[in-house]
Amino acid sequence: MPDFSSRMDRAKPSAIMAVAEKAKALKAAGKDIISFSIGVPNFLPGEHVYAAARDALAHDSGQYGSNRGAPALVDAFLKHIEAIGLTGYSAKNIATGVGAKHVIYNLCEALLDEGDTIAFPTPYWTSYVDIAEIVNAKIELLPCPASQHYKMTPEQLDATLAKKPRVFLFNNPSNPTGMVYSKEEISALADVIAKYPDTWIITDDIYNRMIFDGAGYHNFVHARPELKDRVIFIDSLSKTYGMPGWRVGFMAGPESVANAVTTMNSNHITNLPEITTAAAIAALTGPQDVPNAKVREFQDKRDQVMAVLDSIPGVVCPKPDGAFYVFPDISAYFGKSHDGKVVNNDIEFCNALLESKGVACVPGSAFGEPNALRISYTCPTPQLAPGMERIKAFFAEMQ
Ligand code: PLP
Repeated sequence: MPDFSSRMDRAKPSAIMAVAEKAKALKAAGKDIISFSIGVPNFLPGEHVYAAARDALAHDSGQYGSNRGAPALVDAFLKHIEAIGLTGYSAKNIATGVGAKHVIYNLCEALLDEGDTIAFPTPYWTSYVDIAEIVNAKIELLPCPASQHYKMTPEQLDATLAKKPRVFLFNNPSNPTGMVYSKEEISALADVIAKYPDTWIITDDIYNRMIFDGAGYHNFVHARPELKDRVIFIDSLSKTYGMPGWRVGFMAGPESVANAVTTMNSNHITNLPEITTAAAIAALTGPQDVPNAKVREFQDKRDQVMAVLDSIPGVVCPKPDGAFYVFPDISAYFGKSHDGKVVNNDIEFCNALLESKGVACVPGSAFGEPNALRISYTCPTPQLAPGMERIKAFFAEMQ
């Protein structure tokens, strides 16, 4: 058989999906499993979204569409981001993709040559490493442990940007930690970015509407509008609108970058499907009561999860202000045993938790932070309290 490309030596399937698959297999075998593993929003968009999709199906033109995204979709996205204070963009600044992941992949292809450096903080969303490895970029990590609330300091950013990475990739609110940077924190980081004009800044902010307790969303271009010439904002319908399978993502940034992503689209996908486009426009422009209600529900769930974690001795969990994840540092328990078996690290911990209590969480090492594990609390509400009680019992049984 002929060889695969060397790229395939670097391409890996998602570590998160592996946990989800294991949990599914145990469930299929009849085990009582509660899954806190995968980051799916676990709600459906409003009926108006399905009505728009059905209508598009009835009137399908059957033609290829725009590489950038249909003008009405681009326009809807422009209005959507105006609502979070990202103003002064026009259609030329926008590009779409098959989900934010695809937009980030296109950006990495467009901005990074082999061997160029992409820098990002840990904990990171797993796909950043996977995508950077496929495009053969060098990865520079900025470790941000629980002791600094999983947040990067201006000093860390300064030291990194001084090395002139081609791309700095930032994620706010964060998957996996749920951390949200305040206005003051963003402003201090933006001051550092302003000093280093040779680095593209990607802000993967797809959870920007999922922020709790009235804390606002802040971007570097709010703090310093002149950074618009190299800050690329990423958004997606997946989490906000409960539409992960519809695969719609966006970018807003410099015209040259939006053109580059559009060129990549013309070679990869040609266009987003017409039916998806109609559904996406309906989600963006229609009633916002479903997403708004979900943010309130996630905030309540965050409070329930934090109440349990705070009651477990030795577990350190900075309180998240957004998204739907918590990321407790569990390292105080490494070296202890459960059911007579020593648990040495996050992976052994998550395996033992799944096997003995039927609760699936993702080991922190999937996000570059092996002292922690990720709990995604989007499960149906009745499963949340029993799942957290099982986790608490597991810790209590460790000795
Ligand atoms: N960025 C972050 C931080 C995510 O958590 C995810 C999905 O989990 C994505 C991007 C990908 O989103 P999409 O479904 O739009 O590709």
